[in-house]
Amino acid sequence: MSTNIFPLTDSIISDNIVSIEKGSDGANQRSLFENSIAIAHAESPQSHCGLIAKRKARRMMEEQREREQRGLIIAARAKLQRTEDGKRWFVPSQTEGCHNTYTVKPDPAKPHCTCPDFTARGLRCKHIFAVEIVTQREYTDDGETQTFTETTVVKKTYKQEWSAYNAAQVNEKDEFQKLLHELCKGVGEPSQKMGRPRLPFEDMIFAAAFKVYSTVSGRRFMSDLRDAHAKGYISKLPCYNSIFNYFEDETLTPYLKMLIEESSLPLQTVESDFAVDSSGFSTCRFVQWVQAKHHDPKLLEAREWIKVHLMCGVKTNVVTAVEITDRYAGDSPQFAGLVKTTGRNFTMAQVSADKAYSSSQNLQVVADHDAQPFIAFKANTVSRKPHHTAIWNRMFHFYSYNQTRFMQCYHKRSNVETTFHMIKSKFGDSLRSKTKTAQINEALCKVLAHNLCCLIQSMFELNIKPEFWDASIDQI
Ligand SMILES: [Zn+2]
Repeated sequence: MSTNIFPLTDSIISDNIVSIEKGSDGANQRSLFENSIAIAHAESPQSHCGLIAKRKARRMMEEQREREQRGLIIAARAKLQRTEDGKRWFVPSQTEGCHNTYTVKPDPAKPHCTCPDFTARGLRCKHIFAVEIVTQREYTDDGETQTFTETTVVKKTYKQEWSAYNAAQVNEKDEFQKLLHELCKGVGEPSQKMGRPRLPFEDMIFAAAFKVYSTVSGRRFMSDLRDAHAKGYISKLPCYNSIFNYFEDETLTPYLKMLIEESSLPLQTVESDFAVDSSGFSTCRFVQWVQAKHHDPKLLEAREWIKVHLMCGVKTNVVTAVEITDRYAGDSPQFAGLVKTTGRNFTMAQVSADKAYSSSQNLQVVADHDAQPFIAFKANTVSRKPHHTAIWNRMFHFYSYNQTRFMQCYHKRSNVETTFHMIKSKFGDSLRSKTKTAQINEALCKVLAHNLCCLIQSMFELNIKPEFWDASIDQI
């Protein structure tokens, strides 16, 4: 009989392991049969070694896969910090009540982590996997992250896209002005009852958004603006002082939101999965939102902050809806508005958000748009409460019984963090404006500028030809 064993497939061998390990708990006929095979098999010394080696390899592979899954979960849930050069990452310990942070060096040839698991085995641990996942997703970022992504396997996989990426970068400033001009042309003119006639509204918005894109001071921005004027993107050249006044105009705010929405529309066919999150912008250049929010409430108190809530597409990071509140406003109440705005323009399949957004109402809003909500459940969540809706029960069931799949979908949420990172690293995480209205407009200009950069990226990578203000509607 033992001669027939060798052609048997691996699955039988793994079944053997299971049946042996499970022991004699009511051993059925099948496991008895397979046990006897395993014993017969073990009697031959040659096959014995082979079997053990195979088992060992299989178990190691399974363990490694498990680590990768855990890495995926860490990458989705935890905020990983890194040094400027990206050579070292800090990953919080996942053990409950443990406040340790492990240092990961993601060198692809010889990755290293300071955790006990890596120390014991010298093989990739979940922290290294988490860093690798985060590094890969940040690949699409602006120039800043290029250096360290080049050292990972990503370079090989995306080789073709680098030329498109470079082309987009090289042409960005020209394309930016073209797109912004096209976009501003559609805003129309709000009625002006008093005061001296001001610059055309479209010129004001163009100047404000282009100023934020340029990131330089008002005076230094003037040569950029002269250039735009020479190209015909604005009808009159304002002086640098009036640009500051534009930001103070609160009639600008709804228009900027409208332009952000409009600028996302060319990506309607690309985006179907979306993510929601919020982040703060302050007037101080040296204070970071994460630091103030999680570690030092005094910073939150001492500085001027506004909070930007946004929803973005997870493929291109384009912002599809935005709301701005004061620093203490909760995240959850903003969710429905963001989903509805996006739902007006996009066919949504999935919406992901972290546990701050977890509520029956929020899940229901997503379900009302025929999309699946992947919102993390709070740690103390229990199944089946009378007030839980059908969609809540369904998603909690999904979460409980297929956590791996749930986490894969939920993991797309991290793209909204990337979006904030893109906005802040490119256009600054601080605000120059001193008044509330101006700060709101300035933040909205950052989002608008980000969206145009996403569009330019998509023009080169996906061959999208952006058109605004649906020309077919005009002709009716
Ligand atoms: Zn580790």
